[in-house]
Amino acid sequence: MNIVMFGPPGAGKGTQAKILQETRDFPQLSTGDMLRAAIAAGTPLGRQVEAILAKGDLVSDEIVIGIIAERIDKPDCAKGAVFDGFPRTIPQAEALDKLLASRGRKIDLVLELKVDETILLQRVEQRIKQGTSRPDDNPTTLKNRLEVYRRNTAPLLAFYDKQGKVVTIDGMAPIGEVTKAIAGAIDGRSPGLKSHEK
Ligand code: AMP
Repeated sequence: MNIVMFGPPGAGKGTQAKILQETRDFPQLSTGDMLRAAIAAGTPLGRQVEAILAKGDLVSDEIVIGIIAERIDKPDCAKGAVFDGFPRTIPQAEALDKLLASRGRKIDLVLELKVDETILLQRVEQRIKQGTSRPDDNPTTLKNRLEVYRRNTAPLLAFYDKQGKVVTIDGMAPIGEVTKAIAGAIDGRSPGLKSHEK
């Protein structure tokens, strides 16, 4: 089963994708994590994208599509994956559909984590206080990340809605409640998955 986690920065996509990876064995494919790893390793790609991440702008479609194209052919993705932070633009979503279709696969479910935007700044401030923040977790960059989200990424919802794939989850609920709602959405879409997991 291939799942897209959808929502603004700070909605909880990464947290829930990690839980799905642990509980369902679907690898979490986070382009943000992969780009940060490239930056930390000082690779040519990392050097190319470092300033873009620091500002909260989008890396080119070509780069992230290339990363995902390579990643989905790894054996751990054979049963499916959770896409976290990808796709972020319509061309990325179209490319992902094509990549999957050529392998006889598809996106089964898009989980929209709906949150009140005022909470996002609070969450970033909390991460800074707890020492779990990333270099792009600061109020100025968050403002840009939100603008980029509204402009480039939010339109994807209509793209996936047309395909009848979107399930909206209340991302303001406590983490455990969100996890439960996600489990319900997955099992609703994939009868038999739960019993198979048991
Ligand atoms: P994230 O960890 O998903 O919030 O991503 C952190 C940063 O990595 C973003 O602000 C972008 O600069 C870059 N990035 C991650 N995924 C993508 C993507 N699918 N398209 C373009 N840029 C991305």
